[in-house]
Amino acid sequence: MTKRILVFREINDTQLASLRAEFEVDYLPHLTSFDAPEAMEILPQVHGLVGASLKVTPEVLDKAPNLEAIASISVGYDNYPVDELTRRGILLCNTPDVLTETTADTGFLLIMSTARRAIELAEMVRQGRWTQNIGKEWFGSDIHGKTLGMVGMGRIGAAIARRGALGFNMNVLYSMASSKPELEKSLGAQRLELDALLEQADIVCVTVPLTEQTEKLIGAAQFARMKPGAIFVNVARGKVVDEAAMIQALDDGTLHAAGLDVFETEPLPADSPLARMSNVVALPHIGSATHETRTAMAQRAVDNIRLALDGQPALSAVNVDALER
Ligand code: NAP
Repeated sequence: MTKRILVFREINDTQLASLRAEFEVDYLPHLTSFDAPEAMEILPQVHGLVGASLKVTPEVLDKAPNLEAIASISVGYDNYPVDELTRRGILLCNTPDVLTETTADTGFLLIMSTARRAIELAEMVRQGRWTQNIGKEWFGSDIHGKTLGMVGMGRIGAAIARRGALGFNMNVLYSMASSKPELEKSLGAQRLELDALLEQADIVCVTVPLTEQTEKLIGAAQFARMKPGAIFVNVARGKVVDEAAMIQALDDGTLHAAGLDVFETEPLPADSPLARMSNVVALPHIGSATHETRTAMAQRAVDNIRLALDGQPALSAVNVDALER
């Protein structure tokens, strides 16, 4: 029997053709919810799902009794009920590694653009408001030689820390991670409790996954601990931060500036103050959004679903215990 898969995010023609050679494929790259009628019609027959950014709930799984595997085109898997998938014997695969360096580039882009006020100043030029030499009210702050506090020191955290330590001679602190002796040796990184990191870092950068333990990890109390003039960068997930507390801290000057790729609600609502604050650089969740990396992520997902539905070990699986079910 030919297995059926639903692809709910854009992949390239070669990738789609390779899936069509092996499976019956429903291609709905612009699907916005599994509750949409076109998805509801297919779910009862599907054996595999390939895509990203849509919430998969236990109710969605109830509608897909034949589902064997999901290949997410993302490394983060907070959109999936992992325990429930494992209980039902459904394998969940993700795309670690292939997006690490690109997401770290985005993290550093946010560090540099907030510290040097690049977006504000570029807007000034674009709008014809550069009419005299820039005075100190427009100066930014140095990045080189400063202290970078990494909240999370996994693949992406370590790649950002490496850019900071080796490229910008930054002093690297980290918390919310097991000890990393190799990074302590190669980057001079120092492991601290979160509070101590917040008190010492000039730039705090969040790269932890969103889990029950990390939801709203950074709130009013944490912003209050940061140094005057501190910059906050989030390339992880919006819900790791208490967004209302962050807006308040940016507004009252507790926090100097923020560089954000991710938000509590995405797309960011047009009436969010974050879209307009001059000390915020807000990007539309582009951490991994380059041609090369998105192609590599989709390829990893295509390979994962083929292997998983063929009963072979996937390249990167989140819940291998599902196979025991
Ligand atoms: P990773 O290698 O698993 O690193 C996660 C780090 O967070 C590790 O250092 C881990 O500690 C630490 N951590 C702290 N609390 C944790 C908890 N409760 N559960 C799991 N880990 C915890 O992941 P990564 O590849 O660096 O990706 C990190 C996150 O970035 C993803 O989950 C995703 O949400 C986000 N992301 C965003 C974008 C974007 O477009 N903005 C792109 C890619 C990824 P240990 O070192 O002790 O394991």
